[in-house]
Order: sequence, then C-alpha cells, then structure tokens
Amino acid sequence: MKASNTSSTYDVAVVGAGVFGAWTAYQLQRSGKRVILIDAYGAGNSRSSSGDESRIMRMGYGADEIYTRSAQRSLQLWQELFARVDQRLFHRTGVLWLAHEDDPYPLKTAEILEKIGIPFERFTMAEASQRYPQIGLEGIAWAMLEPDSGVLLARRAVQAVTFAATRTGVEYLQDAVGPVDSGTGVSPVNHAQDARATQKLNYITTAGGRSISAGNYVFACGPWLPKIFPDLLAGRIHPTRQEVFHFGAPAGNQSFTSPSLPTWIDFKGEAYGLPDLEGRGIKIAIDRHGSEFDPDTGDRVVTSEGLAEVHQCLARRLPELKDAPVTEARVCQYENTSNGDFLIDLHPEFDNVWLVGGGSGHGFKHGPVVGEYVAARIDGRKEGIEPRFSLASKVMEGKRAVF
Ligand SMILES: Cc1cc2nc3c(=O)[nH]c(=O)nc-3n(C[C@H](O)[C@H](O)[C@H](O)COP(=O)(O)OP(=O)(O)OC[C@H]3O[C@@H](n4cnc5c(N)ncnc54)[C@H](O)[C@@H]3O)c2cc1C
Repeated sequence: MKASNTSSTYDVAVVGAGVFGAWTAYQLQRSGKRVILIDAYGAGNSRSSSGDESRIMRMGYGADEIYTRSAQRSLQLWQELFARVDQRLFHRTGVLWLAHEDDPYPLKTAEILEKIGIPFERFTMAEASQRYPQIGLEGIAWAMLEPDSGVLLARRAVQAVTFAATRTGVEYLQDAVGPVDSGTGVSPVNHAQDARATQKLNYITTAGGRSISAGNYVFACGPWLPKIFPDLLAGRIHPTRQEVFHFGAPAGNQSFTSPSLPTWIDFKGEAYGLPDLEGRGIKIAIDRHGSEFDPDTGDRVVTSEGLAEVHQCLARRLPELKDAPVTEARVCQYENTSNGDFLIDLHPEFDNVWLVGGGSGHGFKHGPVVGEYVAARIDGRKEGIEPRFSLASKVMEGKRAVF
C-alpha cells in the first residue's frame, strides 16, 4: 500500500478498539504516552468479539489463579471507569456455578477463591433448589455463588473505555490498517549483543490513505490477527463461530431478572446463561468451539441446529421457559489460542510491534489488566512478564485448558 503525504507521529499506535485495544490505549495515555487508536469498523462494532450486549464477569478459573487475580483487579478498574464516565455498565447479578459430582474444576475454583479471599457461598442441592426454584438442577451435585460477580454490558463498556480514552487525549480514527510485511515501512535494527535480525516498523498505512508513524505499534485485532499476520498466526489463533440466544420470559414475571436469577454456569454441561437485563431477554449460549469463522464475511444468521440445542438446554435449566420465544440471536466468534491463554508478546521480527489477543472466549473481563500489562511492556518494565502470554507458548494444535 502506498503511503500518502497525510502523515502523523505518535508514541504508540493501537490498532483495534475492541476491549483489549481500547483498554491498552486508555492505560498508555494515562502513563503519559501520545496515542492513536484505530478501528476498521468502530469500537464495539457487531463483527468484533467485544461487540455483543453482555459478557460474564466472574472470578472463578479452576486452578488458574493468574486469571482469578486478573479478574479481581479488572473488576475494580472497570468499576472505577464506569464511575468516571457515570454509566451503569456492570450488573452485580452474582455468578452461580452449577457443579457436577465428578468435576474437579468448581472444587479447584472454590479452593482458589478461598485462598485469595474472594467471597463465595456454597449450596447443597436442597439449599440451591430452595433459593433458585426457577433453575433445573438435573445432573448437578452442588452449587456455588460468587455474589460480587456479574455481567458487563460489553459493547457499551468498550465504547465507554474508548470515550474515556479520547476524553483524556487519545486520538481516535475509524479506518482499516493495511497488512504489515517486511517490505513496507521497516528498517533494520542492529542487535550487537544477541545478533537477532529484527527490524523496526516505521509507519503503517490505512485504507483511507493515511500514513501513521509511531514508536510502538500494538495490534489488538482479536479474530483478525491471523489475517494481518498470516505467516505467524494462522493456525495459532483460530476464530470459531459461536451462537448466542435471548429468550423472553412471560410478561410481568420477575423470576428471570436480577436479583431473582443470577448468571449461571453449567461448566461441565458446556452452557451458561444470564438473567434478563435491561429487557433484552434471558441469554443462553453453548460454550463449545464452533466451526472456523471469518470475522469479516462469516454468516451471522443462527442455525436451526444451534437453536434446537439451546432449546434443550433451556428446558433443562429453566424449565418454565421451555416454550419461550427467541427475542434476539446473534453469531459472534471466539479467537482461540491453542490452550486459551492470551497472546501478549512482541512480534519476533519487529522490535516495536506488539501482538495482543487470543481472548479465547473468556478475555473480555480482563481488558483492564491486559491494558496495564501492555503499557508496562512498552514502558520497558521487566517485572511481571508472564510466560503463559508468550508467542512461544502458542502451538498449532488446539487443546483447550483455560475456560
Ligand atoms: C459468544 C461469546 C461469548 C463470550 N463470553 C465471554 C464472557 O462471558 N466473559 C468474558 O470475559 N469473555 C467472553 N468472551 C470473550 C471476549 O468477548 C473476547 O475475548 C474479547 O472481546 C476479545 O476482544 P479483542 O479486543 O481481542 O477483539 P475484538 O473485540 O474483536 O476487537 C478487535 C478490533 O480490531 C478491529 N480491527 C481488526 N482488523 C483491523 C484493521 N486491519 N485495522 C483496524 N482495525 C482492525 C476490529 O474492527 C475490532 O473492533 C466471549 C466471546 C464470545 C464470542
């Protein structure tokens, strides 16, 4: 792509205003950097993984304490941001874990929550059915409630972060950044000590004809990352098609709104649901990887097979709603790494290009901490580098381990 003469210089150019890019731009600006945030379709757009109505904000992550701690800090930062922009975008619905007899994951979750001091309540079956008579407990052995967890209103939350970022000085541009290859806008860097043959990216160009030059470039392009860096990331990040449904409760029935109904997770049954928030209907989805998906052109009309499976789940978990009508449906995509750990690392061929993504169906809640982490790396801080986020740890074969 040919660079135009409309050229600007920044400390950092962040490409992608999903939850990871928006928080990264915001945190970088707060650390004193001059930042531009660029998005092809707009912050929280309906093709992006962050563009859905809602996302679960839970603390429990089995034995993966790193994500529990990140969720705890992120919730605090989300709430501070919502207070700053004066919007109610977190609903403290509580998150109820429906635990199967032979499943170690909720047991480990309880152990870690206890260790860190995150409040939770454990229920026997009798206690759970008394407290939540609208929930069907078939196949469930016990339950556990995180009372302080809940739901982030995702699309609007990303727009709120972008708004807060621009209000504090981030420049925002709606435009598509062209592919980065070794022939465009790059110059070699001499590494006398380790003799690595890396280069520096000097500028990026946009479809709208702008040339943007920055000290560092962050590519937080979610499911688009394998398109932008096909040689490096195709096969390391797999976008998969995921269907999400909302159903309408009978008029005047309050049993399916918060606080009567919490957000619930049937982890082993691969399903989760959210109460009716802001009149959008009860949300239910299957948490199993779907087929490969193209975020630009993929078909976003839900399938009758998907609807049938979710109907079965509805009949099992919220039996009173088994014949409830669909009020909304959408197709979104996960952007999965091999095991579900995030990817936050330097591009191996560039000294100033950062790859940020791999939210893998659970990343939304962590946006604030991802932003802090990237800002610390760009500041050159060495403490707290997480090997699990490295490119080297991202293999081709998928074996989901983080949920
Ligand atoms: C159905 C579903 C349910 C989920 N549930 C949860 C949940 O309950 N809790 C949770 O924490 N997480 C959940 N997730 C995961 C979470 O939503 C994602 O991990 C997260 O939103 C990823 O954010 P991102 O910023 O990496 O990507 P995105 O939100 O996709 O943002 C990438 C952005 O990059 C832009 N872009 C791409 N290419 C270019 C380019 N060339 N130039 C300029 N801009 C570009 C796009 O327009 C887009 O806005 C769920 C995901 C899905 C799909």
